[in-house]
Amino acid sequence: MSDPSLLKSEKRVLPTLNDDGTRRWLKPKHAEGRYDTARKVVGWGLIVLFVLLPFWKIGGHPAIWLNLPERQFVFFGKVFLATDTEVLLLGMLSIFITIFLLSALLGRVWCGWGCPQTVYMELVYRPVERFADKMAKRFGQRSLASTFKYLAFLLISMGLAHTFLAYFVSVDVLAQWMVSSPFEQPAAFLIMAGTVGLMMFDFAFFREQMCTVICPYARLQSALLDKHSLIIGYDRKRGEPRGKGATKEIKKKLPLLERQHGDCIDCGACAAACPTGIDIRDGLQLECIACAQCVDACDNIMDRIGAPRGLVRYSSQAILEEGEKKKLIRGRTVVYPFLLAGLLGGLAFAVSTHQSTEVKMLRGTGAPFTVEDGVVRNQIRIRISNRTEGSQSYALDVIGPEGTTLLAPVNPLAVEPNATESALVFVHAPQAAFKQGDLQVKIIVTTDGFREERPFRLLGPMGTGNVKQGKVRSSPPRLKK
Ligand code: SF4
Ligand code: SF4
Repeated sequence: MSDPSLLKSEKRVLPTLNDDGTRRWLKPKHAEGRYDTARKVVGWGLIVLFVLLPFWKIGGHPAIWLNLPERQFVFFGKVFLATDTEVLLLGMLSIFITIFLLSALLGRVWCGWGCPQTVYMELVYRPVERFADKMAKRFGQRSLASTFKYLAFLLISMGLAHTFLAYFVSVDVLAQWMVSSPFEQPAAFLIMAGTVGLMMFDFAFFREQMCTVICPYARLQSALLDKHSLIIGYDRKRGEPRGKGATKEIKKKLPLLERQHGDCIDCGACAAACPTGIDIRDGLQLECIACAQCVDACDNIMDRIGAPRGLVRYSSQAILEEGEKKKLIRGRTVVYPFLLAGLLGGLAFAVSTHQSTEVKMLRGTGAPFTVEDGVVRNQIRIRISNRTEGSQSYALDVIGPEGTTLLAPVNPLAVEPNATESALVFVHAPQAAFKQGDLQVKIIVTTDGFREERPFRLLGPMGTGNVKQGKVRSSPPRLKK
């Protein structure tokens, strides 16, 4: 019971909040129709793809593998390391621009048709709940139906959680986790149990709150859409003034001018079908995930009363509210494709020029060089990423003026497949070879079928003589590399 002393708001503050502040549990009424059928085809296709992808192996790796513990990412046979910043950055930017472009053109199509939250909620969990509710109504066994529902939710959540985890640990490791005792692998067991718990929490309890409260995409909507973007909207001009009398007027085939009402019969079917609890007749709202359930619900009503379909339909604000025409070419629909093409081109180049070995060199920390007995010593950190499928031993050497040598605590440096190792090496060079404090040498990294000669600028004293710690310089040398 709500407190009568509390001021009542004129309108519902949040679609999922009752007047007394308690959660308004939504049980949307399923509306069948052309969009519902199309969404089922797309949604089940995505579910099948999601389940099968971790089993698909290319070059010995899963097609998609986000191997966070080893900081590797595998996409369709290509292995990327966390150090592949340019590829990862270009990939992330391409994803963002694709989302911007899709939103500008098709509105929240991802939310309604592709997002796993919507797909699993509406195609898997919700039908189970409806079935349990139907059984409870028919046989009057509420607690039995509720037990069945939560058991089914638990089983689905287990399947979903394990599929999700397979993307991070691979199916092979997951299979080992699943057959071993929780006491043998407590960490693995806790990860699996925690993920199942999160899925249960999300799909059995949190539900539409994920879209309306947590997901940032809804909040970005106003920035990503413009008035020409595809949205689901209510044709106010055609529907208003709404009222029950509209049915009779439509059935009598009265011309619009002679009617008291618009085409909306105020049946509430659109709002009853909405999985986020909104009424599309109130205009575009951030809670709308563009699932098109209200379109199917309203079309079914229009069919029944003999009015044309499309009172609620895919359209744009410009068309529905300002009577403008469809406009595909706009600033953002021109700029985004150009940006995307540039990013994808850069990404394709970065991926195609990926070498089997990546070598990076950095100066050691501390003093840039030391000098002793006419020998200048530079410290270099060499980082080698082995992208091949076998272990490699990398021999390190230097080419420079006579007397130049490379000292490394470990040489050759062993690097596991798809791993990165670093070695701190010292290059000794005669002080007499330095000109103006500089000496160009080449650091050589070789292994089977791979050789890289990388120029490197050694730093040394500006003057000559036995000088220590580079103190001959009046200012620190410029560090180019
Ligand atoms: S308003 Fe319509 S399209 Fe938007 S979420 Fe509700 S039912 Fe789906
Ligand atoms: S389903 Fe259609 S007719 Fe019924 S209330 Fe919604 S807009 Fe009006």
